[in-house]
Amino acid sequence: MATKLSSPPNQKFECRDCPARCCRLPWNIRFSSDEATRYLAEPWVRERAGDEGALVISRGVLPMREKDHRLQCIFLDDDMLCSMQKRFGHEYIPKSCQAFPFGFVRDEKDVVVAQLSQLCPSIRDNYGKPVDRQLKAKLQQRGDTERMSKALATLSGVILPQPQYLRAVKHWEDQLATDASPASTLARLYDWTAAFERALPQGGGRAADASVDAALAHASAEAPAPLEPRKKPSFYARVLFGYLLGNLCYPSRVREAHRVEKASWTELQALRSFGNKVAWMLGRGTVDLLFIPRPFKLQRVRTVDRFLAGDEGTVVKDYLRVVLQRRHIFSAPRHLLAAVLDLSLATVVISRFARCRAAADGRVKVSLEDVREGISVAELTLLSHAALSEQGKLMKNLRWLLLTKRESFRALLATEA
Ligand code: SF4
Repeated sequence: MATKLSSPPNQKFECRDCPARCCRLPWNIRFSSDEATRYLAEPWVRERAGDEGALVISRGVLPMREKDHRLQCIFLDDDMLCSMQKRFGHEYIPKSCQAFPFGFVRDEKDVVVAQLSQLCPSIRDNYGKPVDRQLKAKLQQRGDTERMSKALATLSGVILPQPQYLRAVKHWEDQLATDASPASTLARLYDWTAAFERALPQGGGRAADASVDAALAHASAEAPAPLEPRKKPSFYARVLFGYLLGNLCYPSRVREAHRVEKASWTELQALRSFGNKVAWMLGRGTVDLLFIPRPFKLQRVRTVDRFLAGDEGTVVKDYLRVVLQRRHIFSAPRHLLAAVLDLSLATVVISRFARCRAAADGRVKVSLEDVREGISVAELTLLSHAALSEQGKLMKNLRWLLLTKRESFRALLATEA
């Protein structure tokens, strides 16, 4: 039977002179061991990569070097085109590069759903040719699909098979389609999901259909608690900004293990990276943040209006619904509530980034472009390209704490509400 493919209606894509954003990001571009063997057997690749780069390739990662305060793939030429592709053709480059910005997840109906990264300006701006006509070729280039988890667990260890956890997800989607701001909606969804989990028969094992029906009804009967905005960022919001946004600041963003031609002043870079984190924790100091054209003072961010309750907040909610519909968020085994947490972390990061971008430009209001770049950052750091398994201990501990401490979770959302 032919594979059924799906993508958002009317979505377009064509690679354009953006220039080469996907080749110039602080991320690991991975490839298979077969691809690594093929590259290492090619004298031209070995010469271009050098010994240091060959070592990185043998680990299945594209080596990068620092240029213009960013990391960029060592195979990217000055004309912003891929030298590997120019020399050997599109089919030679890593599958993940061939297929970018497409990924694929097989959903609950066995439909292969396209994951279109909004890091790519063409996807974001809906530029190019209809995506549905490109799906087959892109799936072939990608070569694999991810699968949704067959079951998710509640915090107390009850197992929810896929059809059951998707009933909760449907409620989340419906709530994100209402007029309320994403911050207050997510605060409500956290309480609703926690109430649903508490109402299930405890003691582990799989939940029965009847008990799920009763728990869903119970959760919906509870009165929602309003979310009051906070004047200052909560402690855990500052830790989150320091970790995720701090790592996108210069020089933190060029200090990756797959970087070659290390700077001769690594100690100074390490010190400045630490300084970035301290600046985010204190909300003071000047930082040079990825996707923002010039360094800016963090203390100016508080002069920029919050926007999640306004029209720009609707863009964030639309994005969160896309995240749920594309199902990638359910491709790793996790707690049900962790998906609400991830949407919440993304919302807070999008909002803070957009306000930073406006502050750097001397504005007190965010623009749609600020919010869209914030969504790019959420794609990069949380919802599309960041594997949970690759996140450090600090982020894992922070997630667990926010999952289990309601007041800390709410304070995080209230920081940008
Ligand atoms: S980010 Fe998108 S438009 Fe830019 S080079 Fe990559 S695929 Fe092409």
